[in-house]
Amino acid sequence: MTFHRDVVGAIGRTPLIRLRAASEATGCTILGKAEFMNPGGSVKDRAALAIVRDAVQRGALRPGGVIVEGTAGNTGIGIAMVAGALGYRAVIVIPDTQSQEKKAMLRLAGAELIEVPAVPYANPDNYVRYSGRLAEALAKTEPGGAVWANQFDNVANRRGHYETTGPEIFDDLDGKVDGFVSAVGTGGTLAGVGMALKERNRDITIALADPPGAALYAWYTSGALKSAGSSVTEGIGQNRVTANLDGAPVDLAYHIPDEEALPIVFDLVVNEGLLLGGSSGVNIAGAIRLARDLGPGHTIVTILCDSGARYASKLFNPDFLREKNLPVPAWLEAKGRAPR
Ligand code: PMP
Repeated sequence: MTFHRDVVGAIGRTPLIRLRAASEATGCTILGKAEFMNPGGSVKDRAALAIVRDAVQRGALRPGGVIVEGTAGNTGIGIAMVAGALGYRAVIVIPDTQSQEKKAMLRLAGAELIEVPAVPYANPDNYVRYSGRLAEALAKTEPGGAVWANQFDNVANRRGHYETTGPEIFDDLDGKVDGFVSAVGTGGTLAGVGMALKERNRDITIALADPPGAALYAWYTSGALKSAGSSVTEGIGQNRVTANLDGAPVDLAYHIPDEEALPIVFDLVVNEGLLLGGSSGVNIAGAIRLARDLGPGHTIVTILCDSGARYASKLFNPDFLREKNLPVPAWLEAKGRAPR
């Protein structure tokens, strides 16, 4: 008999999936690690679990304790799921401008929501700063303790990827991997996987794929934190070197506009049966660029972060795409099934 004792046991050990068109176009083997198959539906389940386990080991979190985070996205869902499975409470602080779908999704995942005004980081009521303060206050009153997940600067995040995601990639390929590419939200994935792979073989090329509006492409290519433009992708696009990113072994960086990333996402639905979110498109575009730089015959891995189902009303909505001046695939306009 084989089973997981709880849902947390089902996090990780995701499969690698060959991306056919990207591989054929480059003569390389381009593989996506299917993080959308995690039980909470994204790569962030790993960070959530690593952060909670770290807090428990440090003695900061005890049965019934509270995990607080300021987030509107996948991390909140991951934390709510891990908290529910392991007997903790999840309190998620979000800006009140977030969509009803996101709030509903977090509530359904089991989180207690606190909505705050959408104000910049400089304002003490900003959702991230609010969540830090709230965790500090609750830590004094909650019998089970309270911790601030602090995903950007808590390096338990990248340690989770260093201990699981990176070794899984290397072992599944018997070490035959030449490159790894990832976009950055917190930097946990890029740094953790990059460090694990470099430690096993320092010839493996580690590359950043950065959307417009983020400052890290400029940082890695010219040493200045500079950004321009914007992107409709969610969960990625960082403007500072987070503690998680600090020291990441990044060899190359690519700047990936939405016009390059989104057609890849749309083609994968029609031709390869894969429904992915926008950050996966940025990642795959980065993998194609790295494949061209390394030349044919190489094996390159990237991350399929979450499912396109999470973005039905945005990326897969022709009105939204038109409003953003982005190309609308013909099949998305047509009623009924996507043509092959
Ligand atoms: N894609 C999506 C959809 C995400 O939610 C995130 C996390 N914010 C990322 C990519 C980036 O992952 P990381 O935080 O490990 O850099």
